[in-house]
Amino acid sequence: MSEACQILHRVFNALPRLDANYSEQTIPRNGIYILFEKGETAHGTDRIVRIGTHTGQDNLRQRLKEHLFTPNKDRSIFRKHIGRCFLNKNNDPFLARWDLDLTNRENRLRYKNQINQKKLIETENAVTSYMQEKFSFVVFAEPIKSKRCDLETQLIATVAQCEDCHPSPSWLGNHHPNSAIKKSGLWNVQGRTKTPLTTSQAKDLAATLTD
Ligand SMILES: [Zn+2]
Repeated sequence: MSEACQILHRVFNALPRLDANYSEQTIPRNGIYILFEKGETAHGTDRIVRIGTHTGQDNLRQRLKEHLFTPNKDRSIFRKHIGRCFLNKNNDPFLARWDLDLTNRENRLRYKNQINQKKLIETENAVTSYMQEKFSFVVFAEPIKSKRCDLETQLIATVAQCEDCHPSPSWLGNHHPNSAIKKSGLWNVQGRTKTPLTTSQAKDLAATLTD
């Protein structure tokens, strides 16, 4: 299991690295993204901290934009996770409000007067700044939806179950209210306990990515 994870770390660290200044044309329309975070290392290289994909066809570019740069937590569970850590770390009671989904009209009306808009904007901005400063990523194409969704799960399981991958003591995710994130060291909750890639499957994937 650790060997498969090591292969993944080697191959993903070798792909062209993108950061907040990426150009959209370099992103395939369909595929998987792998995130790295400043200060996090594993297997002698940058540690994988999140794996993600998209379900809507041709939607990868849009998905990355929503996660990293669009100040609306309700469009991105990843942004929600980062905000939860900031608020939980400071014992901020706004956490309960941050957790509400405001894309839902009923919730929007019900909580209209309870949401401190200034605080909401401040938290969204703090999340965006953190994203831009700390994260870099690589992407690879996978046009077939079922394949990229299955592979996403297998990649998450492989890294989450690896015994050699650990978050650093100062990792922001250690402050998440859900201890699953701290335990796995990944900004992913789904997929952690599924079947990981075998060493030979990881080698096959590496071969297709280094052709
Ligand atoms: Zn590992």
